[in-house]
Order: sequence, then structure tokens, then C-alpha cells
Amino acid sequence: MLSDKDRIYLNLHGQDDWKLAGARRRGDWDNTKDILALGRETVIKTVIDSGLRGRGGAGFSTGLKWSFMPKNEGPLPHYLVINGDESEPGTCKDREVMRHEPHKIVEGALLASFAIGAHTAYIYIRGEYYNEANRLQVAIDEAYEAGLIGKNACGSGWDFDFYIHRGAGAYICGEETAQLESLEGKKGQPRLKPPFPAGKGLYGCPTTINNVESISVTPTILRRGSAWFAGIGRPNNTGPKLMAISGHVNTPCVFEEALGLPIKDVIEKHGGGVRGGWDNLLAVIPGGTSMPMLNKETCESTLFDFDGLRDAGSGLGTACMVVMDKSTDIIRAVTLLSKFYKHESCGQCTPCREGSIWVLKVMQRMTEGRAEIEEIDMLMDVTKNIENTTICAMGMSVAWPVQALIRNFRPVMEQRIMDYKKSRGGASQIQVPGDAAIGS
Ligand code: NAD
Ligand code: SF4
Repeated sequence: MLSDKDRIYLNLHGQDDWKLAGARRRGDWDNTKDILALGRETVIKTVIDSGLRGRGGAGFSTGLKWSFMPKNEGPLPHYLVINGDESEPGTCKDREVMRHEPHKIVEGALLASFAIGAHTAYIYIRGEYYNEANRLQVAIDEAYEAGLIGKNACGSGWDFDFYIHRGAGAYICGEETAQLESLEGKKGQPRLKPPFPAGKGLYGCPTTINNVESISVTPTILRRGSAWFAGIGRPNNTGPKLMAISGHVNTPCVFEEALGLPIKDVIEKHGGGVRGGWDNLLAVIPGGTSMPMLNKETCESTLFDFDGLRDAGSGLGTACMVVMDKSTDIIRAVTLLSKFYKHESCGQCTPCREGSIWVLKVMQRMTEGRAEIEEIDMLMDVTKNIENTTICAMGMSVAWPVQALIRNFRPVMEQRIMDYKKSRGGASQIQVPGDAAIGS
């Protein structure tokens, strides 16, 4: 369990002043100039040694990503882009940082930009986070006013400007290269990688894209040292992490906890337990809805961190879990996800654009039982033909929830089909009209 002395976010729930005076009382902006004086290489090495893995979902080493940027300033400017799009269903952790700890983002932006040789950073905030964007703007203005950013930031000799860009509601603009397109004023559609953004990013220039949480923890890592951060959690899964629990628990919440605790302990300690008790648990989606769900037995034996969830056939993702108890119609729940991902497909890749439509059509019939049992295997086959065949990870988001449903709840799907058949006196399932409703 995370002890109070190891907490990074001391105002996560807005119990204190979120403005500059409060942030300074909590230790933000303390000797930032001295950190900058350490130099780029030391800053990057400290973040690498801390083991910090990207908090946006993919878990790529933050320090390593910074190290991919060109070492010297060439003819092209370098950019930092902070991803505050946070559109994954069930995920709402970065919002708390934006509205209650905005100075951690501004200070982290300065330090990360310095480390990658960027004089300009943008934060891309999802459009619905209107109040959060306003608060962050106040924090940015305060930092300019106090000389913490802008020309000669913190008296360090480094010039740094920071801008907010607000999204317009497209989920795919959370994908890093679609976000770059959107920032450039184009339609938000993912680019093929490689080239990775460090080589060719915003306006074709070297760019690093980090999640809000990744950026906002770096000032504390640089102040307290890599060994402190690396000593929390377990190797390869280090540090405190923002997490969230929503769904059928007694106290849904956003909180900070060490990585590597058993899922059951996390739900009981922070979520107040599953509604109706642990035995009433049906499934948990561990980290944003694109991550495959786990059944109760797997939850009992799995640690809540990157490696634990990977070994369980899922992923930590954003560490914002959705808990479902036995009252859940699990087929319908996954169908709603299929509907979401179909709606948000940008349409560039045939397997994602067409496959998501087919997956939704079949899932809608599966919800009612209006299908044949053999179609369960066909559905699995369709999803296998979507994953790893697309430009961005969205293909996986279409495929994985359905695959996990089939892996964990095939008997429920079969029973639904048999019940429907019985109710129809054994009539053929798939001739029932209704597929036209898909696009609605
Ligand atoms: P990814 O694994 O492709 O990349 C992760 C990061 O590492 C990227 O910044 C990428 O540029 C960098 N990278 C990877 N390999 C590299 C290499 N060889 N050289 C240089 N850089 C390299 O994952 P992704 O597509 O960026 O993200 C997928 C994840 O996003 C999913 O796991 C999901 O959990 C998460 N997600 C989060 C949200 C949210 O709201 N926070 C929304 C949707 C998805
Ligand atoms: Fe667009 Fe889907 Fe292809 Fe991603 S996988 S680029 S969302 S069509």
C-alpha cells in the first residue's frame, strides 16, 4: 500500500488551494531552477532510472522516449505535446490533475521540454473538459506572471512557452499521431508509424508526446530522485500511479496507489468492495475499456500493474477499472463498447472501418440471442482479422473486448442463443429483421 509520505498528488480531490500559492505550499516549483541546472542528460537519465512507464495506457518508458529526441538543436524546432484527451471510457484520472493540480502539469511541461530541447509545448485537452482547461489556463497565466515560464523560465536561461489546444469530441484524437494532425488543423486521423514522432512529429519536427500524468509526476521524481520512485511497486512496474474504479462498487473514486497490489485488495481498499460482496463480482475491465476483461477467478490471482495484467492476458492501460457485478448483462455491456468503437473509427483502415460494423451487427444479435452458436467462432475469427492489421491501436480496441467476452463467457452467449431459440419454438435465428438499426 502507498504510504502518505510517498504520495505525489497532495491535492487530488481539491481539498486545498489549486492555484500557485497552494501549489508552492505543497512543494511545486521548489528549486526548479536547480533541476534545470542539472542539464538535459541528467534529467533524462533520472527519469529513465526511475522506471517511469507512460501513464496514458501503453506503458512505454517515458525517459527512453525523451532520449529518442535529437540531442542537439538543429534547424527544426522540437516540440512537447501533452496528451490530455482522456477519451477512453471509464478513464477520468487526468481530469483530476488538470482541475486540482494544474501546476504539476505546467512545471512538468517545462522540465520535459527542457529535457527534449523544446521551447514550446502544447497540451491537447478533450473538449468536454471545459472547466479543466480554464483552470489550467489560470495556472499557465500565473506561471508566466511569476516568471516560472516564458522568457528565461525560473531564471534558468531557458525560454519556454506553453499553449492549450482544446479538442472537439473525437475519440481518435487521443491517438498520438491523430492528435498531431488535429493540432496542425487537419482531420484527426492516425499516421503510420514509423516514423515515430521523435523523428517526425508536429509540423514534421521532432516531437515527444506524453500523457498528462506522465508529465505531472516528473517534477517529483526529479526532486526526490529515481531511487525513491523505483523503490515503490516492483521492478518494471515502479512508482505510485493514479487509478480509478467505476461501476458496481460501493465507493467509485479516483485515487493514487502503488502499482503491484492484488486487484481484489485495490477494489476493497479504495472502491469499498464490490456491491453485494466479492462473490457478487462478475468481471473487471482493468484499464480503460479497450483492455480485455478479467473474470472473478483471474482477478483473485492478478496483480494490478503492467506485467501482472499482461500475464493475465490483458493490460493495465490507464489503470481505470470498470467493475461489473452479476446483475450485468455482459453481452450487452460489450455490445455497447462495440457501438462506441464503431462510431469512433476514423475510417482509414478497412479492417477497422468495416470490421467494427460487422462486429457490432453480430454483437447486437448476440445480445438478443438472435444468432447461431457457430457464429460465436465466426465472431472470434472476424476480430482476429482486425487486430494487428490496422494503422493504429483502435483495431485492437474493436477486437479485444469481444475476444475477452468469448473467452470468459462463451457459455452465457450459448445459453442466450438457446433461450431465444426456445422462445421462438426453435425457429431460425438470423432471419429476424433489425440489423438496419446498427447505424443508429
Ligand atoms: P504504442 O505502444 O504504439 O506506443 C506507445 C508510445 O511509445 C508512443 O508514444 C510511441 O510513439 C512510442 N513508441 C513505441 N515504440 C517506439 C519505437 N520503436 N520508437 C520510438 N517510439 C516508440 O501505443 P499507442 O498506440 O500510443 O497507445 C495505445 C494505448 O493507448 C492503449 O494501450 C490504450 O490503453 C491507451 N489509450 C488511452 C486512452 C486514454 O484516454 N488515456 C484512450 C485510448 C487508448
Ligand atoms: Fe482509423 Fe481504425 Fe485505422 Fe485507427 S485502426 S487509423 S481508427 S480506421
